[in-house]
Amino acid sequence: MDKKAMYKLSYGLFVLTAKTDKDNGCITNTAIQVTSEPNQIGFAVNKMNLTHDMVKESGVFNLSIISEKADFELFKHFGFQSGREVDKFADFTDCKRAENGVTYITKGCNAYISGRVKETMDLGTHTFFVAEVTDMEILDEAASATYDYYQSNIKPKPETIKTGESVGTLEKGEAEGGKTVWVCKVCGYVYEGEDLPDDFICPWCKHPASDFEKKTV
Ligand code: FE
Repeated sequence: MDKKAMYKLSYGLFVLTAKTDKDNGCITNTAIQVTSEPNQIGFAVNKMNLTHDMVKESGVFNLSIISEKADFELFKHFGFQSGREVDKFADFTDCKRAENGVTYITKGCNAYISGRVKETMDLGTHTFFVAEVTDMEILDEAASATYDYYQSNIKPKPETIKTGESVGTLEKGEAEGGKTVWVCKVCGYVYEGEDLPDDFICPWCKHPASDFEKKTV
């Protein structure tokens, strides 16, 4: 079995936002339209994400569709830090509030979909939500970013580590000297060390050790 076959699946990328006592959002790549009559979408969210709990509690959310105009900052802001530790909307101005009271992202996104949860399914690490679409608007005509586009064009290249750029925890200058590092193929987070623990979870994107690539820098 070649596990890399999973990489051939095509995905979009989205900012999922919700509101309870505060606003929050996270990055997901799992949203799809599941039926058109009625218009329903489905998406899975990792239970470690605060947004997961907020969508489950409130039952209301927006899904902002990330476009090819998005920069890496958007992914870092919503994907690589937790709403349990920081208020992602405290100083974030590239957003508006939709009619459902939840924020949506106006920069680097080409549309948003508002939804109300109808069903949930426990998938272990994730919950799968099925929701009815309650509203939606186009924001921009830029093409939607696929996961592949993110990997090729938005995510900083692992090669940049060799030139000393900061891509994860490695700061300029630290990467010299034949050091072994493990680079997260999803987000670029860098783990320093000869061996990566099997149960290691990427602190930025929450992907497992199997998504890390060993490199000597
Ligand atoms: Fe990662």
